[in-house]
Amino acid sequence: MDCLFCKIISRDVPATIVYENEYVIAFKDIYPVAPVHILVVPKTHIKSMNEVDDTNSNYIAKIYEAIPEVAKIAGVFDNGYRVICNAGEDGGQMVQHIHFHLLGGKHLGAKILRD
Ligand code: AMP
Ligand code: ZN
Repeated sequence: MDCLFCKIISRDVPATIVYENEYVIAFKDIYPVAPVHILVVPKTHIKSMNEVDDTNSNYIAKIYEAIPEVAKIAGVFDNGYRVICNAGEDGGQMVQHIHFHLLGGKHLGAKILRD
């Protein structure tokens, strides 16, 4: 399967990994939009939120267990942060392996994106 994030998980593509456990990997976004911009990714190929179901939702729980740990490592646990998951074309999903953007390191305002 030609999936960028699966290749990062298998170490076939380099990334700046900041956290990892059996279920989850977190690495720095290559084009950060905030001082802290980390992608938190399940170590199984789930294409998008549309593919989350009873067989794989344990990975999503593991993502949300990992997020506070990643936030601590990134130094944003106390000041706060935002998590975004884009889905599909209108949602702006570019990489077809579900991922959660952890953004912080500055006051993000009422909205993260304006175009
Ligand atoms: P999305 O638009 O929600 O699918 O987010 C995909 C994210 O992946 C974007 O924020 C990209 O900057 C990021 N990205 C793309 N390629 C890489 C890479 N090789 N390493 C880290 N982040 C990447
Ligand atoms: Zn994948």
